[in-house]
Amino acid sequence: MTALTLETDVLQNFIDGKWVDVENTTAVTNPANGERIVQVPLSNRYHVEEAVKAAKKAQKDWALVPAPQRAEVLYRVGMIMKDKKERLSRLLTMENGKVLEEARGEVQEGIDMAFYMAGEGRRLFGQTTPAELKDKFAMSQRCPVGVVGIITPWNFPIAIATWKSFPAIVAGNAVIWKPATETPIMAYELAKIFEEAGLPNGVINVVFGKGSEVGDSMVQNEDIRVISFTGSNDTGRNIASDCGKQLKKVSLEMGGKNAVIVMDDADLDLAVEGILWSAFGTSGQRCTACSRVIVHHKVKKILEERLLAAMDHLTIGNGLEEGIKVGPIINEAGLNKIKKYIEVGKQEGATLLAGGSEWESNNQGYYFTPTLFTDAKPDMRIAQEEIFGPVVSLIEVSSFEEAIEVNNQVTYGLSSSIFTRDINRVFKAQRDLDTGIVYVNAGTTGAEIHLPFGGTKGTGNGHRDSGVQALDVFTEWKAIYVDYSGKLQRAQIDTEE
Ligand code: NAP
Repeated sequence: MTALTLETDVLQNFIDGKWVDVENTTAVTNPANGERIVQVPLSNRYHVEEAVKAAKKAQKDWALVPAPQRAEVLYRVGMIMKDKKERLSRLLTMENGKVLEEARGEVQEGIDMAFYMAGEGRRLFGQTTPAELKDKFAMSQRCPVGVVGIITPWNFPIAIATWKSFPAIVAGNAVIWKPATETPIMAYELAKIFEEAGLPNGVINVVFGKGSEVGDSMVQNEDIRVISFTGSNDTGRNIASDCGKQLKKVSLEMGGKNAVIVMDDADLDLAVEGILWSAFGTSGQRCTACSRVIVHHKVKKILEERLLAAMDHLTIGNGLEEGIKVGPIINEAGLNKIKKYIEVGKQEGATLLAGGSEWESNNQGYYFTPTLFTDAKPDMRIAQEEIFGPVVSLIEVSSFEEAIEVNNQVTYGLSSSIFTRDINRVFKAQRDLDTGIVYVNAGTTGAEIHLPFGGTKGTGNGHRDSGVQALDVFTEWKAIYVDYSGKLQRAQIDTEE
């Protein structure tokens, strides 16, 4: 255990405002050094049912609390998170491995989300609209769905949870949250913060455990009316299909194969900075990570040289240490997947310019050297499939049109970026890049919480996290007609006096 201690050595579920022991547990280890941090519960179907019972009861009263008062709890959550920012960030680095600077950024995203969604408590806008009949009033309003389930991944263990739970709560729902087993500490800390902020018992319930048991029980439970999931495509597709059979609403945010386009007129120093940050930040384990660089042939050689020179300064190591730029990979399975793709890339005929191997630490951590392939072709597997590690492949093109085409030639559609000084190309690119997020003269990462986050094609199913659009996942629209004519007026029929 490091100097930063948790209050407990064994985490508990948080159900109906109480901390509940679970018999079976498994160890959570620090990916930077393999040290055990804490034990996390392996809950089962019974625990999910208990949580749903509590949530159903709590949600009825919570929905009747005026939204501005619900929002005040979120405001307090934001203030407590602010006070605890450094502690949360360090714990986040311990359980996930991302470097401290990035962990602080992720916690800040959660704080921003708390204040943004607290503001929604005084908006949650519906519409008023003219009615087609005299002396009649028409409006629409958002209503909570009821009990909602959120399932989150390990790569952004606090930010993604806030993108989902805060809009759900301000809209009057009760939440069952299953965090990733790899990273349960942020969930434990956030539940503590909700408790301290005075959220009524049962409005948020945290059930730790495996996706195949706890996640699946949530998906199958009839009383959970929405599943909001972020994770891999395989898992997401299975969840969607199970939810489809039950006519359960499901919001999916999944993988990406994001590209930076570098045109012949680009500011190359800026492009190098943008590529480095978005390809190797979080060791490439971001859904928005840049894993392809589509480069105009006129600047390919010089871009390669500058990238190689800049990559020399990427220090690898434990993210809690000063000056480290690239932290560990989450676990052995993640490391093996990256190694497999290095071999795939070589066999496919791409040229390995840098990296391509495990970085040997003096402990049990999982590290991989930042890797650059060049001469990749758009249809190679390394240019099509999500690797989820610090691996980027350069693809050469001859025109702006070809760059756009190559960008769009993948099954995913999360994030894209273009470096150019040509204003016409900027506007054409933002129109034609088929992704949910487009950056101009910046890398593929850096979303702000008040804009919708999500992707097209195989990245999602049309819903968005964060932004005001997140409320659409957790609310139903109700249309309301008030007739004050004192007589029965029939719409579409009694339109004439
Ligand atoms: P994952 O394996 O799909 O796991 C995601 C979550 O789903 C975890 O909590 C997992 O639980 C749970 N789960 C697994 N099997 C399940 C099942 N049968 N039923 C219900 N839940 C189940 O994904 P990951 O490896 O953690 O995350 C990486 C992926 O997330 C990448 O593909 C990345 O691109 C994507 N991602 C997307 C976004 C976005 O917004 N588009 C953001 C971040 C990450 P356990 O792991 O505890 O078993």
